[in-house]
Amino acid sequence: MDTDPAIQCSDCQACCCQLPVRVLPGDAPPEHFLDEDEDGYLIMAKADDGWCVALDREQMCCGIYEQRPFVCREFAMGGGDCAEVRDDWRRIALSLR
Ligand code: SF4
Ligand code: SF4
Repeated sequence: MDTDPAIQCSDCQACCCQLPVRVLPGDAPPEHFLDEDEDGYLIMAKADDGWCVALDREQMCCGIYEQRPFVCREFAMGGGDCAEVRDDWRRIALSLR
C-alpha cells in the first residue's frame, strides 16, 4: 500500500479517531470503552464531541495504543483513508471559518 511519508500523526488532530470503530473478535480494548451500535455490534464508544473515548486528549493520540482494535491497527498513517479523512477535516474546518 502506498503511503505519503509527509503525513504524520504527530502533525494531525487525530481525525481518524472520530470514525466509527467496530470491535472484532480477538480485540481486547478495556471494557469501559465499549458501546453497541444500533445493530447490536460492539464498537468503541464516542464522547459527545464525536471522538473515541480512548483518545488521550492532551497528546491527541490513542490512549490504549497497545490494546487498540484491529480496525485502528490497520489504519495506515499516510495511506489513502488517512489522507481522505484529513482532507474532509480540512474542508469542514474551512467551511466553519
Ligand atoms: S492515521 Fe492519519 S488521520 Fe489518523 S491521526 Fe494519523 S495522520 Fe491523522
Ligand atoms: S481506539 Fe485509539 S486509535 Fe482507535 S479510534 Fe480510539 S483513540 Fe483512535
